[in-house]
Amino acid sequence: MDRSPEQTGPIVVVGGGAAGLEFVTRLSRQPRYRRQGVVLVDRSLGHIWKPRLHEIATAMQSQAGAENSFVGHASANGYRFEPGVLIDVDPASREIVLDHLFAPDGTMVLPRRRIGYGALVLAVGSEENDFDTPGARAHCLFLNTPEQAGRIRDALLAGAFRVARGQQQELSVAVIGGGATGVELAAEIKHAMDAFARHEPMDPGRVRMAVVEASERLLSANPPEVSEYAAASLRERGVELLTGERVTLVDEAGLQLASGRRIEAQLRLWTAGIRGPAAFEGIAALPRSRSGRVQVDAQLRCQAVPDVYAIGDCAEWTDPATGRPAPYTAQIASAQARYLAKAFAEQARGRLAQPFRFEGAGAIVSLADRGAAGNLTLRVGRRSRDHLIQGLSARWLYALLYRRHEFAILGWRRGLARVLADWLEETYEPTIKLH
Ligand SMILES: Cc1cc2nc3c(=O)[nH]c(=O)nc-3n(C[C@H](O)[C@H](O)[C@H](O)COP(=O)(O)OP(=O)(O)OC[C@H]3O[C@@H](n4cnc5c(N)ncnc54)[C@H](O)[C@@H]3O)c2cc1C
Repeated sequence: MDRSPEQTGPIVVVGGGAAGLEFVTRLSRQPRYRRQGVVLVDRSLGHIWKPRLHEIATAMQSQAGAENSFVGHASANGYRFEPGVLIDVDPASREIVLDHLFAPDGTMVLPRRRIGYGALVLAVGSEENDFDTPGARAHCLFLNTPEQAGRIRDALLAGAFRVARGQQQELSVAVIGGGATGVELAAEIKHAMDAFARHEPMDPGRVRMAVVEASERLLSANPPEVSEYAAASLRERGVELLTGERVTLVDEAGLQLASGRRIEAQLRLWTAGIRGPAAFEGIAALPRSRSGRVQVDAQLRCQAVPDVYAIGDCAEWTDPATGRPAPYTAQIASAQARYLAKAFAEQARGRLAQPFRFEGAGAIVSLADRGAAGNLTLRVGRRSRDHLIQGLSARWLYALLYRRHEFAILGWRRGLARVLADWLEETYEPTIKLH
């Protein structure tokens, strides 16, 4: 067993996303770790729950309204926030290396630094994966960070204004990838364009959309009924669905498909996959799996480096129930954060925690103003059954997932205040958010 993290120096967590921020919050609530020191490192100054990115990308949610400042969160919860970009891990000296930090105007804010750790928890998330498709990197917009979401929003609004003011006939958008992210993005774009048309003289029918998916159906990770419901909802809104079609090339005007078909699209939005984080690529001490992640054992420890753990999208944990790596979702990121905070407490008492287990509760996909669709997994003893949920009740459950995350990182008082603030914003702020 590793030493108790308490005896060996601060606990350094790199990445304040769905996994890292929940873990830091839970850990710093334990007085023993507050005394010892908990440090959160992130390349951004604020946290945004990634499943909300499609709302920011479509101007339906302001970035500022969805963000939690690390500075404020750290002082409220008794840990230290260190802005910086992880570029190396040195297990011999038990230090991490953070790159120079520059201000937007190019001036240096902080020099390259080393930070010592007693235990290191890696939670740096994932990178978008274009599967080396020619032209994808140069001609697509991606949706994996708040900055990328902002770029999609700006491009979408620019296109919508051009159509509204007669500068162009229509706006054509192709979403590459018909998984949860692609379906949610497509539905939200349609919703956003309807909202835009209420303020500007634009016919929303002039926004032409297609979703291209290599599998035979959308949402191939969900039961077929969920796919059918989502497909019907998108078709009803005029979205063309091209399933069983693989993109072989992207250029500045559209997509080439393996079937020989061509799709013209002014906006090309790539949501087709993720891989391990770029941050790990230059770190010699961390052996990476084929998908570029750190392999972890049953206690979420990095198998090759002592006192280093990994959680969330950057960790490859093989589920003993299936023998395969578990999926990369906010649900599992949160379960790993909860588990690891408890495992650290066990270790401090000199005990090895029980292995991490994950029993998914199902998956819900938002269809914007048309509700949501998904499957809820109910368990009785060892038996489990999937129940389909759809429409507005599914949308409520979907919203609850976000609130659960907010309450986990903010606590009940601030979480409730946020519910009220969001309700006020929805009531009084314009639907389309420009920032
Ligand atoms: C558009 C979209 C929609 C999604 N919808 C859903 C959904 O509906 N349900 C669901 O369960 N899952 C969903 N997911 C997946 C889910 O968001 C991720 O599985 C989850 O966020 C992973 O959490 P994480 O903490 O591992 O990574 P992240 O939440 O990505 O956090 C990583 C953090 O690490 C920081 N970081 C990265 N590199 C460095 C570095 N080198 N140095 C310092 N800091 C660094 C980042 O700034 C970030 O704060 C969605 C994902 C996307 C992109």
